[in-house]
Amino acid sequence: MKGDKGKTILTLLILLMISSPLVMDSGQSQEIQTKEKILSRFADRVPKEWGERVKGVKTRLNTDQKVLALTFDACGGPRGSGYDAMLIQYLESEKISATLFISGKWIDANPEIFKKWSGHPLFEIENHGFNHKPCSAVGRSAYGIVGTKSVGEIFNEMERNALKIQMLTGHKPKYYRPGTSYCDEICVEIANALGYEVVSFSVRGDAGATYSKKQVKEALWNAPASSIILMHMNYPESETAEGLIETLPELKKRGFRFVKLSEFALR
Ligand SMILES: [Zn+2]
Repeated sequence: MKGDKGKTILTLLILLMISSPLVMDSGQSQEIQTKEKILSRFADRVPKEWGERVKGVKTRLNTDQKVLALTFDACGGPRGSGYDAMLIQYLESEKISATLFISGKWIDANPEIFKKWSGHPLFEIENHGFNHKPCSAVGRSAYGIVGTKSVGEIFNEMERNALKIQMLTGHKPKYYRPGTSYCDEICVEIANALGYEVVSFSVRGDAGATYSKKQVKEALWNAPASSIILMHMNYPESETAEGLIETLPELKKRGFRFVKLSEFALR
């Protein structure tokens, strides 16, 4: 049955490609043109900076209001493709908005879960890279993960996942957070040229989902207003959800509101 279904889908795809060559061609050629422009503008540049907060990266909401932006990464890959159902279901039950940065790899590993939550009004889906690579013009690494090696690879890493998310949700992401949050300033300029903002964080909420419940609580409790908090939704075995569940009600009592990134300008 599975094989037959696969064949049917493949046949349909081929028919679709044959029957609409103009549509396929215009999309692809537009992507190639955009890539050529980016290559000619940036290919000769040599990066000077490397880190989570290089020039042009956004780390805060630009407001004096008592708000916090919870952002959750879904990184993908062999050890990062889990799904913290307790966490996301808690946010939904408490009507807490959040921004989810999702990689192409994670989407491929969790298609049904992605479909379920990407259409939910509490959440906005943003770009965490096609292959979850640090965003480097010269192949620098972070946390043992090798980054993109060229301007062309930066383009592919950024744009392929943006187009994938757009195809699946109907919305093109506005924000890009590189895998590991590490990038150079050329990455930031390319993102800006393509119409995206690179978003890092001001509060490390779970340190790659390695924090204990107590550490998660402390990080959240001490977060100043307008913080962008980085946490993870792909490690169900972590204590991230427990720390969050024990802290958010208290923060609400203190007058904090939880918002999506897109509700404010960023700085
Ligand atoms: Zn990640």
